[in-house]
Amino acid sequence: MQEEVKLTESPTPAPVPVTFKDLNFQPELMEGLNAMNFEKPTPIQQQAIPMIMKEHDLIACAQTGTGKTAAYLLPIINKIIQKPGDYIDTLIIVPTRELAIQIDEALQGFAYFAPVSHIAIYGGTGGISFEQEKKALTHGANVIIATPGRLISHLNMGYVKISHLKHLILDEADRMLDMGFSDDLNKIISFLPKHRQSLLFSATMPPKIRELAKKILHNPEQINISLSKPAEGVLQAAYVVYDNQKTALLKSLLKDKKVASILIFSSTKDKVKEIEKDFKRAGFQISAIHSDLEQDERNEVLRKFKNKNLQSLVATDILSRGIDIDSIGLVINYDVPGDAEDYIHRVGRTARAETTGVALTFINPHDQRKFQRIEELIGYEIKKLPIPAEFGEGPAYDPKANPGKPARGSFNKGGGGGHKGGGGHKGSGGGHKSGGYKGGGGNHKK
Ligand code: ADP
Ligand code: MG
Repeated sequence: MQEEVKLTESPTPAPVPVTFKDLNFQPELMEGLNAMNFEKPTPIQQQAIPMIMKEHDLIACAQTGTGKTAAYLLPIINKIIQKPGDYIDTLIIVPTRELAIQIDEALQGFAYFAPVSHIAIYGGTGGISFEQEKKALTHGANVIIATPGRLISHLNMGYVKISHLKHLILDEADRMLDMGFSDDLNKIISFLPKHRQSLLFSATMPPKIRELAKKILHNPEQINISLSKPAEGVLQAAYVVYDNQKTALLKSLLKDKKVASILIFSSTKDKVKEIEKDFKRAGFQISAIHSDLEQDERNEVLRKFKNKNLQSLVATDILSRGIDIDSIGLVINYDVPGDAEDYIHRVGRTARAETTGVALTFINPHDQRKFQRIEELIGYEIKKLPIPAEFGEGPAYDPKANPGKPARGSFNKGGGGGHKGGGGHKGSGGGHKSGGYKGGGGNHKK
């Protein structure tokens, strides 16, 4: 048998930066990174940052928790350091207030030693904030992080000095479309200068995101390292139950738990409120986040939970995407999320950045088929635990016999699209396992 002779070498891939030093950031930014304990760029950062620095438009898709925020904030800060000014340089549009605040805080950390002014602009605050926002928008904060509705209110008044804008960033673009912000986005974009760099970040890449990208991006680079799989460190299991067994089961799970942070998701805000009331009355340390709370109250609850002054938080899917809370030990899905991607987002709250966590889901007969679709999406089965005998007999697990309603949403397998540039399409597990990936995330003082 003859050996096949290789005549051509396979092309060597472009060198990928492996440390932040390789990215040639300005010293002020390097200082910020050091203070935040960021040592090594994550895969999405390794790929996206050089493209953004080269002024390309970009569509980037990577699973929750992979470090997308810094992937766009760092090159933007680096550019502003080199060309400071009193104008709005960058507009970041995000779906929720919590996310706006979180990104603003991250920016505050990275740009602590750099001359970058920034403000988060979001609805639900009173007149004083609106005046402060107006001031920032007329005097030119360098980076504006905004939710769509509030930004449009300002833009409509005519005083926003946006003509020098260099960068438009849409973060959690999939979420924004899910929340019906499509028209708002178009409206906002109609106010912006045509010549600009646009970046679109998303955890998933359904067709409607591609359409949006086609409309607003110019000849974009693409990165796709979406996996549609929970991080490897999450231990997942599910209880097969009847609705009337859920509360007792949840109580027994929360009782005696030494876990510092427990996040419970339910699909409706009424259920969330009910769980909060019920469990508070039973003596549990628990609070709720849902859309009926004032912004201040939401911030306060979130702050307490992040600072570990509150053990359990029960929330609607407001919290399932994007919000970064470190080291949640246990996530409980009180019901099966309607959208399979939401399962991944909910479960993605645990085991972030190399920690381990547990995610438990309660499946009632009605949700069995929905749950099976989630398993199809992630590509493996999740262990079903029978409900302990003390709670009575549970239902059998038989998704075919219990079809429920068809689940909404399409089950996008992610990772399907082409990816140019720096070939990081990792097979499993999110590729950020090796080396120093444990972010401080918080603020640091000089
Ligand atoms: P995503 O937007 O992709 O969901 P985030 O930007 O919220 O992810 O980042 C998730 C967590 O990882 C945050 O706590 C962040 O501070 C941390 N992180 C991101 N990049 C790095 C890095 N290069 N080194 C250390 N920690 C990082
Ligand atoms: Mg994000």
